[in-house]
Amino acid sequence: MRTAIGVDLGGSHVTAAVVTDDGTIHRQHELDLDDLSVKAVTDALVETIGGALKDADGAAIGIGIGSPGNIEVATGTVVYSPNFGWSNIPLGATVAERFKLPVFVGNDARCATLGEYTFGAGQGHKDFVLLTLGTGIGGGIVADGELVLGNRFGAGEFGHHQIRPTDGFVCGCGKIGCFEAQASGTGLIRHAFAVAPSFPRSLLLDVNRDKLGSKKIRKAAQNGDGHALAAWKNYTADLAIGLANVIAAVNPEMIALGGGVSTAGEFMLEAVRARVDALTTMVPKGTTQLTIAKLGNDAGQVGAATMAFRGGLTTRPTDS
Ligand SMILES: [Zn+2]
Repeated sequence: MRTAIGVDLGGSHVTAAVVTDDGTIHRQHELDLDDLSVKAVTDALVETIGGALKDADGAAIGIGIGSPGNIEVATGTVVYSPNFGWSNIPLGATVAERFKLPVFVGNDARCATLGEYTFGAGQGHKDFVLLTLGTGIGGGIVADGELVLGNRFGAGEFGHHQIRPTDGFVCGCGKIGCFEAQASGTGLIRHAFAVAPSFPRSLLLDVNRDKLGSKKIRKAAQNGDGHALAAWKNYTADLAIGLANVIAAVNPEMIALGGGVSTAGEFMLEAVRARVDALTTMVPKGTTQLTIAKLGNDAGQVGAATMAFRGGLTTRPTDS
């Protein structure tokens, strides 16, 4: 069994572990990131990867890093990352110099798509899309068995296609009504605030804003709370618009939904299926299955290691 180091680099933490080529993650080495400077993040990468490499005992064939931002995959350079405030940082080369191993860097959502395609809900589906509904919306496309990267590695940035440009919420990217602003976990919270005036006696939002997660609203909706259900209805209506647009652009066999909100499972899928069908016009209805992703938070790390096994961010089968 082959072994690689899979690294999940996020805005608040970095996690590295040995991952075997059956998609299994072994012992995690995790550090919180308070300082997002290049030096601090590189130091945290070196420490966590170093720990995982000790576990690998010399067997690791390479290191795969999933990072936020636009990544030049051939060189592992972070072209820009709004989360980190970075531009043109040679992350892959810097890490490779420290460990004398091949290092591959890819966008975190594309890595998650590769992981979910290889070991999760996408297995056996040559036309596949992953959408992760978390703080934002990350995504990736597999078309005819190939991970689509686009001209400059931007394919799959579904989060920033606008679905409500005139009456939507302001997105972190500056536009109005992006899919991410409306249908991420953060979007669900915003929908709950938007309908709050109609529920003056509701206690749903009666907590410190820092402590208010989408989970509370999702669970309250599943328990039949009126305020949460009104937010959920608007939320799933927006989610359906975005899903129908993705179907129009890609017509995959399957779209898997991941991220915190997707733990609502069938409760969410039921709410969107009929709307997605209604909004699917020129593409034959029902030709794209909607499902829940299987790997959860592990998808990015498994996908990063898979990238190392494959010698790059590709779904092409390798000969080994
Ligand atoms: Zn946006």
